[in-house]
Parts: sequence; C-alpha cells; structure tokens
Amino acid sequence: MSGRILVVDDIATNRLILRAKLSAAYFDVLLADCGEKALEVARAELPDMILLDVMMPDIDGYAVCRALKADPATAHIPVVMVTAANRQEERIRGLDAGADDFLNKPINDVTLFARVRNLMRVKMMFDELKLRETTSQELGLGEFMDPTGFDTDQEGSVLLAIKDQSRGQHWRDCIGSRFPFTVEIVRREAAVLEAAEREPPDAFIITQFLEDGDDGLRLVSTLRANPRTRQSAILLVVEDGRLETATKALDLGASDYICAPFDANEMAARLRSQMRRKKYSDRLRSNVRDSLRMAVIDPLTGLYNRRYATQHINRIVGRARESGLPYAVMMLDLDRFKSINDRYGHNAGDLVLKEFARRLQENLRGIDLVARLGGEEFLVALPDTPAQEAQIVAERLREVIDGRPVDIGNGQSVPVTVSIGVAFGTPQDRDPEAMIAHADRALYDSKAAGRNRVSYHADAA
Ligand SMILES: [Mg+2]
Repeated sequence: MSGRILVVDDIATNRLILRAKLSAAYFDVLLADCGEKALEVARAELPDMILLDVMMPDIDGYAVCRALKADPATAHIPVVMVTAANRQEERIRGLDAGADDFLNKPINDVTLFARVRNLMRVKMMFDELKLRETTSQELGLGEFMDPTGFDTDQEGSVLLAIKDQSRGQHWRDCIGSRFPFTVEIVRREAAVLEAAEREPPDAFIITQFLEDGDDGLRLVSTLRANPRTRQSAILLVVEDGRLETATKALDLGASDYICAPFDANEMAARLRSQMRRKKYSDRLRSNVRDSLRMAVIDPLTGLYNRRYATQHINRIVGRARESGLPYAVMMLDLDRFKSINDRYGHNAGDLVLKEFARRLQENLRGIDLVARLGGEEFLVALPDTPAQEAQIVAERLREVIDGRPVDIGNGQSVPVTVSIGVAFGTPQDRDPEAMIAHADRALYDSKAAGRNRVSYHADAA
C-alpha cells in the first residue's frame, strides 16, 4: 500500500526521522515546518494523510486541524496528531478539532504503521466514492456534496457489545445524554451477529472480552468481512491495556479503538468522529446510486430512458441467440399528442404521459422492457415471445389506451389513442438497431393508415 503523507513538525529532526521511517515503507512524504505551511501544502497537494505536530510556534496543531476539517477540499483527509504528552484532555481537544487519532512521542513504529495502514484504507474507500461522485457530476447527474456539512445532530444507531450489564447501561446513558443515537446492548458474539443481520447499526462498540470467553477482536474481523456490516463504524474497547491489541484491532479492520479505563468524553469524541464519517460515506454512496438511477430512468414516467433501452435491447437480442427463442420489439406513439398539449396545457400532457406509462406497465410482464424514448414515443420489448403472442399483446395495449379517456383533473378527461409498430425478432437477427428501425417503419404504417392501430413489419409473421 502506498500513498502520500504530509508530515508537519517545527523541529527538523522530528520531520527527518518520520520521513525516513515512512519512506522506508514506500510512502511518499511531504514536509511542512509550521502550521501555515501545513495548510498551504495540504490544500495544494491533497495528501492521503497528515501527521500533525501539536506544539508549533505559529498556529498550533488543533487550529490547523480545525481549519483542514472546515475546508471542503481537505475535510476528508485523515489527521493524526503527534503529541508529547499522553493526556486525555489533549486527546479530547484533538478529537473535537476533528483529528482521527494520536501518536505519542517518541513514536512507536508498530503503532504508527498500524494507524497509517488503517487510515489509508479508509481514505482509499472515500477516494473511490468521491471519484464516482465526480463522474456523476461530470455527467450532470448529481450535486457536489460538502463533507463539512455533516454533524451528529442526526440520528444514528449503535450496537454495544459488552459483558458487564451495568457498565453497559452506564455507557448507554453517557451516549444517550450527548447524541440522539439509539443504543442496543448485547453480551455475546452470536447476539451481535444476529442483531447485525436484522439491521446493521451505524456503529459497533465492542469490548475486547465478551460473555463466555467470546473474543472482541475476532468479532471485529468477522464484522469487517461481512458485506452487511462492512460499511459500519467499528470501535474496539481495549481492556488488557496492551498497545498490541489496539494495533491488531486496526489491522483487522476496526475504525478506531478506545483504551480502558473508560472515559465518557473520549468515547463520545471518538464515536462522534466515526459517526460523522459513516454518515458522510452513506450519503456519498446513496448519491452515486441515485445519480446512476437518474441516468437510466425517465423522471416523469419512472420508465427506463433511451440510453437504458438501447443497452437492454442488445441484451435481449444476445439472449435470443443463446436460447433460440423469438422476441418482439414495439414502437408506440401517442396520436395527436401535440394537440393535447396545445388545447389543455403541458400539465395535462404530462398527466396523459404518466397514465399511458402506467397502463403499459400494468399490461405487460415483469420481464418485458418498457421505455420512454422521448416526447410521446415509447418502446416495448418482449423477450421469449412468439409472433402470435406479441400480436395479442400489441392489440391489448392499443385497446387499454383507446378504451378509457385519461383524467386530467378538474373533472375533465381526454380521449387518447396510440399507434403501434411491431417487429418480430428471431434468434438469427443480430442487429438491435435494425429491429428498432423495423418497428419504427411499422409504426409509420400505422400513422399513415389513420392511427389508433397496430402494424407489423412486412418480412415477418
Ligand atoms: Mg513541535
């Protein structure tokens, strides 16, 4: 794993030692000797991670961290604060400023690399999501999402795995008094997995030693590997006081760890930071999903659009070649639609299109494709369908449109009819474009022959 790490320290020796260690592990290292410089390099170079000294002559590490986290361009870069003193107040101050973790001077190599590897993994996941989001934006499909705009005044769910029931209650009270999160308490590994199967929580807090000798570390690794819980934050509570346990937890995929003895403020600060990251990645993920959806769905009717339909017909044609079964492609066009718009207005026109789409879907099978190609033009594809059956379907579609006028509100309704052209495909047909062109030609025949009718492509049936 490689990546670029910005090392910030006002003392040259400290910078050089860290650079030597990180370079030896094949990381690219950038250096800054003061707070101002750190902000400048971070914004210009967008490193994958920042190791940030706390005590500096110009701006201290807390202020630098706050500034980084307030800037949408740098907010997602993980920050590890490097402190001389291992004091809880300092850790909480750093976490409040948005830091991801702390390293004490002198820096222990094992801890350093465990943390670096862990944060690099998180960073890469974010980069991947950001990349997809950027692609969606470039396609004009989504809005840029500001990573600084997330806070934990929103709801969230926490699953707390802890052996001691009364300690569990106390922790739950501590979380409940600070955040609007729901907290469920369980004592065994099996209960965690069962709860996660029902509804994966946003965050797990897992103590190292569980009921009946269940092992919290093993649970971390199981949860991280499970697709249902892979996206959740996982915090391990280290109870044996060993740094190696924390290191191992990070390597197994824990998002963070908390060292016993329990401190409510520190846990709250770590939980907040993890929850913020989880919510942000959830939003990124659903943005990408929504914009992908938008890329293939017609927003007015909820039907697939032309882009999707073209791809899908390719698949239907390919599938017919393998299965040896026939299929049919239909083009449908509402008759005199322009006069509906002109006479009743565009809102009425939209209602007609929506109702038309609804009736089509209602009268077709789940495996059939229904798409709006644009305007009042629609396409239907029927896989695994012989010509005779396709003719019945086409005639039925024409009838359900002609049969009942469309309600356009205010007690008004408009009679609507549709012209349809059908092309029959055989396993020997290889060209999806030709199929569409044939159906289109038949549609033209229906229009020319007076509308409200079904025509078939000449060389078929
Ligand atoms: Mg210093």
